[in-house]
Amino acid sequence: MKVTVLGNSSTTVTPGGACSSYLLESDGKKILLDAGNGSLFNLKKILSLEEVDIIVLTHHHFDHISDLFLFRYEREALKYMGQEIKPIPLYTPKMEPWLLEKLEKNHLFELYFVESEKTVEIFGMKVSFIPVEHLIETYALRVEKDGKVFTYSADTGMCEGILKAAEDADLFLCEATYVSKEPYRMKHHLHGKEAGEIAKTSRVKKLLLTHLPEKEVDILLSEAKEIHEDTEISEILKSYEV
Ligand SMILES: [Zn+2]
Ligand SMILES: [Zn+2]
Repeated sequence: MKVTVLGNSSTTVTPGGACSSYLLESDGKKILLDAGNGSLFNLKKILSLEEVDIIVLTHHHFDHISDLFLFRYEREALKYMGQEIKPIPLYTPKMEPWLLEKLEKNHLFELYFVESEKTVEIFGMKVSFIPVEHLIETYALRVEKDGKVFTYSADTGMCEGILKAAEDADLFLCEATYVSKEPYRMKHHLHGKEAGEIAKTSRVKKLLLTHLPEKEVDILLSEAKEIHEDTEISEILKSYEV
């Protein structure tokens, strides 16, 4: 498996940056995980939209789905121009009516709803959706193939679900939204130290931090590294082998 970062900002996006989106590739198949604002520009630097085989959404906050609407526009325009457009399978938590109406229109996506913990087989990969602690219904993703494990935290606070999702992961792509020195503690996001703690407790090999703040990323990295040595900051358009 290979994971390429298309966006790694939290809601405080950096100039020229993009919000959460990742391309997971395995045996030539391409799975888009989330589609945050700005990420489509990066996706199109490496492939065209018709090359995306499946899309998976972890939750419906705009910093994870905004560019899906643009993705949809492009496919819809091509359909109107007479091109044959095959609906793309889209795995997603159940949708609010307004979102469902937007995404089911013109059958550009084949919708598969996740409503609780669930494991599905996708292109020979075992993909588990594991509920995590966030402001709205959210699933971490655990992907297993040929004895290797890739976990994407989605957005989460410290919880049992994320510890389970990350267990023995070879690559753990984990959100780290703020630094721990701040005088508050959010239940629905992690700081660098907590990301390190999860990686250590769940015996993760490599910890890759994402969903980053605009500033103090170096502090956040050192907080995580203090607990889990093999930790890196994710970089846009960089690929990571699992
Ligand atoms: Zn969120
Ligand atoms: Zn987010």
